[in-house]
Amino acid sequence: MSSDCLFCRLVEEGDHVRKGDGFVAIRDINPKAETHLLVLPQRHVDTFRDVGAFEADEAKRMLEFVAETAREAGLDDYRVLVNVGPGGGQTVFHLHWHVLGGRVTGMPA
Ligand code: AMP
Ligand code: ZN
Repeated sequence: MSSDCLFCRLVEEGDHVRKGDGFVAIRDINPKAETHLLVLPQRHVDTFRDVGAFEADEAKRMLEFVAETAREAGLDDYRVLVNVGPGGGQTVFHLHWHVLGGRVTGMPA
């Protein structure tokens, strides 16, 4: 837990769509699609660049959590997006996966 990290706080006290297995899903506060969810690892990892910080099994479970979050949201077809670094549109420096379903109205950045 990084006390100055917004998403670490939301892991602790956010409104979770799903939680378990070391990951949580929340609704994006500024949705760019009809359904716009974020999947966060409960433990703090700054960015996708550091994805090697996850054990192989944990990384697999993270991807499965993303897919299951979409499935539970009723999505069959959707987009999964990760912004990496400020130049890649990342604004919150706690790794997260955007899940975008239905009509997309902008780029999450
Ligand atoms: P990124 O730009 O890829 O780092 O994505 C950060 C996302 O977090 C943006 O889509 C924001 O709309 C979203 N966001 C920022 N603050 C909150 C919050 N308090 N609750 C939920 N989503 C948030
Ligand atoms: Zn964090």
